[in-house]
This record gives sequence, structure tokens and C-alpha cells, in this order.
Amino acid sequence: MLLIHLPGWAGLEVYVHSLAGLVMLAALVPISIFADRIQIRHQRLRFRAKEARYRAQRFAEQILRDFEDTGQGWFWETDARGNLTYLSPAICEMFFKPFSEIAGKHINTLFDQGANSRDRERSLAFHLTSKSAFKELGVRAGIMGEVRWWSISGRPVYASTGEFVGFRGSGHDLTEKRRSQEEASRLAHYDSLTDLANRFQMAKTLEDVLNASNEAERDCAVFLLDLDRFKQVNDTMGHPAGDALLQQVSKRLTRVVGDEGLVGRLGGDEFKVVLPGVTDRDHLANLAHRIIESLSQPYSIEGDRVVIGASVGISVAPDDGTTSEALIRNADLALYAAKDGGRGRFHFYASDLHQVAEERREMEQDLRDAIQTGALELHYQPVVALDTQTISGFEALMRWEHPKYGMQSPARFVEIAEDAGLITPMGEWALRTACAQLAKWPESVRVAVNVSPLQFSHAQLPAIVTSALAQSGVAPHRLELEITESVFLRDDFNTDAVFAALKAIGVRLALDDFGTGYSSLGYLKKAPFDKIKIDQSFVRGATQAGSRNGAIIASITSLAKSLGMETTAEGVETLDELELVRSLGCSHVQGYVFNQALPAATVSEQLSHGLTIEAKGFHKWRPERQSMLRKVALEHAGEIYMATIRNMGPGGALVEGLWNVPPGTIFNIALSETEIVKATTIWHCDNRMGVAFAEGRAEGDDDLPGSINADRPVAEEREASSVEPVRKAG
Ligand code: C2E
Ligand code: CA
Ligand code: CA
Repeated sequence: MLLIHLPGWAGLEVYVHSLAGLVMLAALVPISIFADRIQIRHQRLRFRAKEARYRAQRFAEQILRDFEDTGQGWFWETDARGNLTYLSPAICEMFFKPFSEIAGKHINTLFDQGANSRDRERSLAFHLTSKSAFKELGVRAGIMGEVRWWSISGRPVYASTGEFVGFRGSGHDLTEKRRSQEEASRLAHYDSLTDLANRFQMAKTLEDVLNASNEAERDCAVFLLDLDRFKQVNDTMGHPAGDALLQQVSKRLTRVVGDEGLVGRLGGDEFKVVLPGVTDRDHLANLAHRIIESLSQPYSIEGDRVVIGASVGISVAPDDGTTSEALIRNADLALYAAKDGGRGRFHFYASDLHQVAEERREMEQDLRDAIQTGALELHYQPVVALDTQTISGFEALMRWEHPKYGMQSPARFVEIAEDAGLITPMGEWALRTACAQLAKWPESVRVAVNVSPLQFSHAQLPAIVTSALAQSGVAPHRLELEITESVFLRDDFNTDAVFAALKAIGVRLALDDFGTGYSSLGYLKKAPFDKIKIDQSFVRGATQAGSRNGAIIASITSLAKSLGMETTAEGVETLDELELVRSLGCSHVQGYVFNQALPAATVSEQLSHGLTIEAKGFHKWRPERQSMLRKVALEHAGEIYMATIRNMGPGGALVEGLWNVPPGTIFNIALSETEIVKATTIWHCDNRMGVAFAEGRAEGDDDLPGSINADRPVAEEREASSVEPVRKAG
């Protein structure tokens, strides 16, 4: 028997038993081969399709895995009850759990369940229960200790039978996007330099308060603040220093205002405070006072000590306006009035300020005209050398008779000129006029000309001085320039260079109003002064029994002598004052006791009779009663600080106004003109400190209530500083 198996004819086996069978078989073979080929092709196609499907699946899986792995997004899947059946590994890792621990938990456990997220949670729950698809739903991730935002999308999944089997979806991280959105919104609302609210945010806050639905909630106060002398710091020390200063100012300001209101920066050195619900004027005055006091403490900028001041204008709603425009305009007028009143002050809005502002604008214009038309004049006050009682020179003082308002105080119009940018041409005019006048007077007399700090920082000053001298033919040593301490806001190269240039010309330099600023004796040694002018506030009252002023004058004259400088006592009015300053070692005197400032023609006439001059006037000076009980000067390491005593007892006091004083710091505190006590800081908090007096003061020494328990041991005292406390101009 022959058994032939024909491939392709599955199951068909042909048993050949005979020849006839063989013939039949021969006929069947070609058919079988053909059928076989078709079968193979089908098989191949099926295989290829399967392979393509497999590859596509692999490809899709790869893409999804890349999507997951590269952190672009993640996937999730739940069963019909919302319990997780799949979660991308990256998300599991964020929860520090393998999927096996997360599987079966409700999808909600992935999200923050906090109160703020209720709404989002609700909308997710809505979709899950209503089996509706959702897209880009922002949710906060429920990861402990991390703020992370996700966007999730999902859709319901149905089995082929139509049965709902769960949800499947994806998610991606929104955190960075949100952050940049938040940053953009922060930038829109906050000042990037100081982090304070910006102009826009401040305006909105005020609008919100004024539009409160409850009328009582619309009460508020607005402070507008302006820094005195900021421009000078910015101009002389550079913008980075100015920025650093603004940042420190912002910190102090927010600390003082605390929770009472919102502090904002409007730009430049302008700040604003909105105080919702605060209308009590005493309270506002106290707050404004504390702000000014805090901002007027010295700053350390790039290692330099910088002193500025602040002025505050206040308006109160509803009295001074019920719209933000009215309140701002009125606070601005009040600020103007504060600055006009001498800076370092606050001022409430009052209806007559509109007129004051109008007058000031008018003044500014009239001053421009006066410069143009030559309506300014210089008067000359004699400076007398005490050893010979002869005129050694004159101080040139500017005079302006306003066509409508009469004689104006230079203290006021010089300030208007400084604000209006007119001081430089005015100063130049004064220098040229004084030199031209001096050329007509005896060789032995000098003229002193006041130089504003703004003029001093002007690069042209040495050239102008040289030109004025050359034009008049006056010898440089006959010209004295009077400069105030404020030019020392920073002992930088620029200041030194101007000093050097002026000294090279050969003019004399005098330090004016000595003792009225934050006197740092350090620069006296450094700067090439020929003279110190002792401010008249030290002369005033110096003859009173128990006054410390005499001691202060004596220490200044002895210091000046040791540095080879002359001293002029300013504002000496009476004969007893004259005798006192003479006995205290002043080399020169200037004041009404000899003469006031006179027109050049009168001086020329008097000079024609010689240089000897006679003192005249009252014999004694009578003080007006002054009360400075709570305001005190503190001296530490040669520096003088002003502060307020809030509370005092026999053992110590609560002092406000100095920031972050380290415990153990020893001060000399001038409680009054006659009483100086040594005290040690025992604690501090912001701008307050508790001090313990070295020797207890007798009870009843003061009329301030309360007492401070100074039971901590007093740190060992250092030698008292040789520097006497000096008073800052009030
Ligand atoms: P200052 O430089 O301290 O000038 C001295 C001031 O004291 C003058 O006031 C003078 O008249 C006044 N005075 C002199 N002796 C006595 C006295 O015995 N008793 C009293 N109570 N006062 C006396 P004045 O002329 O009103 O000038 C005020 C300020 O205006 C000056 O203070 C100065 O800072 C500024 N100033 C005046 N002229 C100029 C100027 O040409 N340029 C600049 N930049 N400032 C000027
Ligand atoms: Ca002067
Ligand atoms: Ca002076």
C-alpha cells in the first residue's frame, strides 16, 4: 500500500491501491498545489496584519510610556465606583506609594480635600456620578507639604455590552503655569522693588473701602508720604543705593503700620497708606509721628550711614472727601503743607490748604521772575573776631521782597527754590554777587556764602567758584563757603573730590549749623574745614542756670581748636551770651548783638569808619518756657539719636524710636537739659526698648506714670564717651 500525504489537503489521505487510483491521483496533484499556495498567502496576510496590529499597539504603548516618563502627563482609570484601577507610576511616586497601595482607593483621594477645593471637588463628583466626560478640570493635588496643581480630563468607558465600567483619563501638571499666572498677577498688583502693594492695588483697596455696602465701613484715612532728601541720596550714591534705601524704608513703614492698614508704594519715593476704619485724629497723628520718627532713624546703605526724613499728608473720609480722587488730592495738599512747614512733619488736610498750595505755586513762579528781573538781593551780616572785636568778614544772606507779600524768609524761599530746581542758578548768582561786592571792601574782610547741598553735588560748582573769583579779582582765601552737614549723607568719592577741588582753588570752607543734624564727629577730622559754625540753638538758653548747652559749646570749641579750626557762635543776641561764648572759647561771633544782615551800601558806609564794632543789646536772655519732657536725645559711641520716653520709673524707662538695639548697649540719655543718665538696654522689640538706669533716679523725678522693672543686672559700664549729646533740629 502506498500512502501519500498531500499538503494543503488537510485531513485527506489517499490510499492508493490500484493503478486507476494512481491515474486519479496524477490528475489531482496540480489542483492541490494551487490550493496550497492560496492558503499560504492568506496565512501570510493574516500574520502581517497581526504583526502590524501588534506593532501599532507597541508603538502606542511606547508613546504613552514616553508621555508618562517624560512627565508630560499621566493616566488614570477607575472602576464603575470611581475606585482606581490604574495610575501612572509617576503619580504613584509623588505619593511615595507603589500602585498596589493606591489601587482600589477612590480617585478623590488623589486631590486636596481642603476647604478651598470644595467647588472643584464638587464638579469632579458631578461628572463621576453623571457619567459625563470632563476636560481640563483644574484640581489641587493632595500631596502633603507641596502645592501642586493638575489639570485632569476623563470620559466614561462602556463595555461592549453597553454596561458602564468606569472612567479613564489623563492629567498633566499645571503648577508652573499657575505660578507664572500668579506671578503675573502679583506683578500687576505689587511693586517689584519693595513687594508693597502698587499704585493700582492701592487705588483698588481705597475704592473698595469707599464703596462698602455698609456706610460705617466706608470710614478711612489716607496717608501720603514723601521722603525728604531721598533724591539727594539717589543722585549722589547711585540708584542701587536708592533702591536699597527704599527697601529698608518699606520694611520700617510696614512694621509701624502693622495690621492697621495697607502700605503701598506709588513710585519713586512716594508711599501711601490706606487705613480702613481709622478716623480718630489723635490716633492718626500718633501713627504719623511714629512713622516719621522711624523713617528718620539712620540707615546703613552699602556700609554708609544715611539719614533721610519723611513728611506725611493725611486726609480722612468722609470729612475730607468721599471719593478716592478727593481724598488723594486732599492728602496731597496736606503733604505739600507738611513739607512747606519744614519737612519731617505731618499735616492733616484743611480746606484752606487749597489756597496755600495756590500761593506756593504763585511763589515759585514769582521766584523765577525775581531771578530773571534781578529782584533778589544779598544782605551782609558781620562776623566778629572776639580777640580783637573787629569785623573779620560777613555772611551773605539772600533777601527777596515779594511785590505783593513783602519780605520773604530765605529759609522758606530757598526751600521752594530747591524743590523747583532753581537753587543752582540762585546760588551761582549769590557767589558772583558776593565776590563782586567783596572786591570793593578792605582786603582783610572775607565773605561767607551759603551753598545748598543740591548745589554742592553739582559738578559745576568748582568751575563756578573759580569763575566768580576770576571775574571779581578777589583772592580765593577771602571767600568762605558755608556747607551744612547734610552733604555728608555719604562720605563718598564724589564729596571728597568736590572738597579737594574747592581746597585746590584755595577758598575757605565752613561747616554750617553744626549740631543740628545727626552730627558725626568723624567727618570733622576728614573734611578740610576752616571753621565750625555752632548753631544758634546751642547759644539760646546757654546762659540759663543748669543748661547743658554751655558744656556742648565748650566741647565743640575745644575739639575745633585741636583740629586747627575756628568757631563762630551763631545767633548771639545779648551781652551775657556774648560773654559766655567768649569764655567758652569761641573765636568768632555772629548775631544781633553786633548787627543783623544789612544791605551792601550800608555795610560799605560802615566799613569806611573802620573795622571795629561794638556790641549792643539787652543784657540778659529770657527763655520762653519749653517742654521737651518726653522727647530725649540718646548718645552712644559718639552718635546722637532722638527718641521718645513712653514710660519711666526710678529704675528704668521704656524708650521708643530706635530700632533693634542689642541688649547691653549703654546710652547716655539726656532726660532734660540738666539731667543726663547712663542707661543699659535690657530688652528690645522693634523700635521699643527697655533700659535700666545705672543709678536709680529718685522717685518723683518726673511726672510720667508707671515704672519699668529693671531687675536684670546692669552690664558693666564703659567709660562715658567724651562726646556730649547734641540736639537735632526739631
Ligand atoms: P543760616 O545760614 O544759618 O543763616 C543764619 C540765619 O540766622 C540768618 O537767617 C540770620 O539772619 C539769622 N540770624 C543771625 N543772627 C541772629 C540772631 O542773633 N538771632 C536770630 N534769631 N537770628 C539770627 P536768614 O537770613 O533768615 O536765613 C535763614 C537761612 O536761609 C540761612 O540760615 C540759610 O540756611 C538760608 N539762606 C540764606 N541765604 C542763603 C543763600 O544765599 N543760599 C542758600 N543756599 N541758603 C541761604
Ligand atoms: Ca549760613
Ligand atoms: Ca547757620
